[in-house]
Amino acid sequence: MTDGSAPTIAGDGVGVLLAGELYHTAALRTAIGSAADGVRTGAELLLACWLRYGTPGLRLLDGRFAAVVVEGGTVVATTDHAGTVPLYLRWGTDAIELATEAKALVGGCHGGLPVPGTQLAPGLPRVRRIQAGTAVTMVPETGFATAIRTWRPPMHRIVLPEDVAIARVTAVLDEAVRSRVDGRRATVVLSGGIDSSSVAALAHGVGALAESVSLGTDAGDEFPAARIVATHLGTRHAEFRIGAEDLVRQLPWAVAAAEIVDPDVLEYLLPLVVLYRALPGDGRHILTGYGADIPLGGMHRGARRLDSLDEVIAVDMSTFEGLNELSPVLAGVAGHWTTHPFWDRAVLDLLTMLEPGLKRRHGRDKWVLREAMRGLLPETTVHRPKLGIHEGSGASSVWTSMLLGAGVAAVDVPAVKRSVAIALHERVVGRAEAPEDVSFEEVLREVVAN
Ligand code: AMP
Ligand code: MG
Repeated sequence: MTDGSAPTIAGDGVGVLLAGELYHTAALRTAIGSAADGVRTGAELLLACWLRYGTPGLRLLDGRFAAVVVEGGTVVATTDHAGTVPLYLRWGTDAIELATEAKALVGGCHGGLPVPGTQLAPGLPRVRRIQAGTAVTMVPETGFATAIRTWRPPMHRIVLPEDVAIARVTAVLDEAVRSRVDGRRATVVLSGGIDSSSVAALAHGVGALAESVSLGTDAGDEFPAARIVATHLGTRHAEFRIGAEDLVRQLPWAVAAAEIVDPDVLEYLLPLVVLYRALPGDGRHILTGYGADIPLGGMHRGARRLDSLDEVIAVDMSTFEGLNELSPVLAGVAGHWTTHPFWDRAVLDLLTMLEPGLKRRHGRDKWVLREAMRGLLPETTVHRPKLGIHEGSGASSVWTSMLLGAGVAAVDVPAVKRSVAIALHERVVGRAEAPEDVSFEEVLREVVAN
């Protein structure tokens, strides 16, 4: 799983494997100096950075990646600041195995003992996940392991005049999109909400928007809102409509890709996995608006007071770990690569740090982002209230009605959703069964019968 460039490289007794891509590399090249001359790929840049700075140099890397560095008898496994590319570890008696999918590490009877900087993967007693923003150093020979943090969510807040905050948000998001397209043509998954519309407008602004795409079902869609944006930009746009029950039947794919058991998060990810699978062509470079709500408090439309808004932001920023919402495997199962400008390190730092009064202002949620995008988007888009993907597509409600139809009592729906997710996970991750061989309805019947 990579962006397409050679993922491994060796030099000066060091082996490097980079799964993913680095962004904002010009500054890093400057810091590394002449050793970065002639360096072409991300893996080569990581190697050059390592040779100059060692393990703490991993803090300089800015990107969407998991990486492994082997030097002498030492193995270093690291994630990007937000762990957007999951990295799993099984440390057995005679080998350290690392993979970007937990299902690749099931089986075997060793592993699972505590390792600093890691957490057990859900449902898998011998597989551990390297934490977000962490580099774990392991010496297989002696069993020694230690970890450093390479990033933490900021806890302080900065106070800025409105115009300065707006200008900074515009600049940092524009740079995140530029760095992510880097001369390529991108597909944007577009709901017509402010987040994905911002990404579409900025990608179009640098001439990189090949197409935007929207998903709808027979239970709901946001097609008109997305169309308004594509028409405004004058860009190519495609709509994909599928039956809502058929969407829910693809849950084994969402569980296999996300490798999680949280039914709420699965409801957000399922429509995206379904859309990625429906897209014609392979190897698309996809940009999303995913994740803007976490540093901006967008999910907490009801939080009236700024103290509670900032507190939910602080909590959400310290609990995203392990949800795998940004995992590239979600689109990787369909042969595409995704990247998420709102979780660019500099964007995330800035949005998190802005004082909450810039996020809820003049009666509007995500105020600073809306103002930053005012010149690029239609007025209706700038003011459009948030609608979650699980709401707009009907994923939540139709999954619920399918459970009710199978005889589940309304009060039991949340617990049964979780049990279904756990049962699916056991098959597509725990036993690494192919998702096309696992029937949602059969798993539901088994869960209801027990
Ligand atoms: P949301 O839950 O609305 O914040 O959605 C997260 C991201 O998923 C958005 O920023 C879009 O990039 C994408 N998305 C949401 N809904 C749709 C949709 N109906 N069609 C295509 N992409 C979507
Ligand atoms: Mg939305």
